[in-house]
Amino acid sequence: MALVNEHFLKFPNSYFFSDMAKRINSFRVTHPKANLLRIGIGDVTRPMPKVCAEAMCRAAMELTDQKTFRGYGPEQGYDFLIDAILKHEYASRGISLSPSEIFINDGAKGDTGGIVDILRHDNNIGVATPTYPVYIDSNVMWGRAGIYEPENGTWSNVNYLPCTEETDFKPRPPKERVDILYLCLPNNPTGTTLTKAELKKWVDYALKNDTLILFDAAYERFIQSNDVPHSIYEIRGAKKCAIEFRSFSKTAGFTGVRCGYTVIPKELSASTLEGEAISLNQLWLRRQSTKFNGTSYIAQRGAEAIYTPEGIAAINENMNYYLQNATSMRKAITEMGLKSWGGENSPYIWVKTPNGESSWKFFERMLYEANVIVTPGVGFGPGGEGFVRLAAFCSQEESHEALKRIASVL
Ligand code: PLP
Repeated sequence: MALVNEHFLKFPNSYFFSDMAKRINSFRVTHPKANLLRIGIGDVTRPMPKVCAEAMCRAAMELTDQKTFRGYGPEQGYDFLIDAILKHEYASRGISLSPSEIFINDGAKGDTGGIVDILRHDNNIGVATPTYPVYIDSNVMWGRAGIYEPENGTWSNVNYLPCTEETDFKPRPPKERVDILYLCLPNNPTGTTLTKAELKKWVDYALKNDTLILFDAAYERFIQSNDVPHSIYEIRGAKKCAIEFRSFSKTAGFTGVRCGYTVIPKELSASTLEGEAISLNQLWLRRQSTKFNGTSYIAQRGAEAIYTPEGIAAINENMNYYLQNATSMRKAITEMGLKSWGGENSPYIWVKTPNGESSWKFFERMLYEANVIVTPGVGFGPGGEGFVRLAAFCSQEESHEALKRIASVL
């Protein structure tokens, strides 16, 4: 009989997001007429720029013509998109990267989860928490996270770097060394960011300790403050210690289209047990050539169009819309007397529940009393207990109405 990967059996029986869906569904069944408003969900709602759709239509039509038909594309992505990324995302910020350092993918989730394939099972990992659950879960599947400890919702081999009210939800480098470190900035779910000087401390830590930083910048497009870096490579030395993940999902309404990219500088290496330095760029290329056949040509043409003047204008408009929404949401939350973080360089607002109410209790109360769906903070790790995540991805009318309802039941 085939044997399963038993690391999968270590996951707790209930999965947070399906638990949440079940609770919402049972509410819907018992309250079929309720007008539910969702202000916690991490999916965008503004449509993608028209110029991207037009580019995708043209690309699709090319595939119907014998002269322009394309089959498999390059695993790393087409040059036209890689060149646009290098020019608009990196050269414009004074960062010099070569085309072979960019890997186009079908969204950041696959690579943030898959990167662990090229790292030994017994590396120890540090995770700034609360954060995007994929980082820990993908390590659980490899056996690297250890054993689940239900009493505190933690994994025995994970070095949690707590982001708390006391640190303004900003992660701080640990005293001990870790092999692999996950940073997500701007952070999902707390919306917090680090300034250049603060991020430099992490790069210095990584260089000093030979730590690999896995830097998830899926929300970098929301950054407005001049002193907050968009890329970790804005910090000198980061090419020697960091992999960066980017996504067009939240930037350009591509959550359904699927396109993003991972940057692995040629200077970055990790070691064998014998101490030989191995290029992670080469290992990832090998891994991708085996497990990935490239992102759809159509999606890549759509992503390329993001960098046209029309694309840039449409994206700026969407960003302004979400960020204005975040600002007025945060104002309304403050007026209710609740403490909150984020919402400035991020679509996410992290709200402390009143009177020490648990995340799930507050979620249920808002669902039943205000008919508003928020996301319980515990879904993002043990440090999320006592908080909920709000997201500015809904319409301004919806967020206004939802927060009015919340205020009326607090
Ligand atoms: N990284 C973070 C921090 C996210 O919040 C998400 C999605 O919510 C992703 C990565 C994955 O995005 P995608 O796969 O759509 O690019």
